[in-house]
Amino acid sequence: MPMGRPSRPLSVSFLCEGCGREIVSAVDPQDASGACPDCGRAFALRADGPIVQSRLLTRCLRCGLDRLYTQKDFSKRAGLWVFVVAAALSVPTWGLSLLAATLIDLGLYYALGDATLCYGCGSVHRGFRSNPVHGPFDIHAQEAVDRRPRTA
Ligand SMILES: [Zn+2]
Ligand SMILES: [Zn+2]
Repeated sequence: MPMGRPSRPLSVSFLCEGCGREIVSAVDPQDASGACPDCGRAFALRADGPIVQSRLLTRCLRCGLDRLYTQKDFSKRAGLWVFVVAAALSVPTWGLSLLAATLIDLGLYYALGDATLCYGCGSVHRGFRSNPVHGPFDIHAQEAVDRRPRTA
């Protein structure tokens, strides 16, 4: 668990174009390509030096689109398990563990930080600083991106 670490490793996760499997790739400007472990389909990331050094995203590292949004990178499954365990313990501890679970959950929520997502391809960028230019998800921005002509 990345508790208390000041910066998380940079990574991008996206779905393989060949088989649809989720690929999580480290962001490394020296080696910005790879292949799907399942079907072997090659992929490339646009991870250039300035972005990696500044940890500030200006565009999607997968498709190059500059329409991005941020959301809390919170694992729902981890949060659920915390509550299941807390509920099981809450009988002998008179509910104190439920309070503890809430605090642990809050801790997880902030420890995991923000993820930056691409409106175009849905890639999830983790470990970057949140860019104030990117707001939360906006359905109008999504519609504008969906309507754009697909020339690529
Ligand atoms: Zn694949
Ligand atoms: Zn993208």
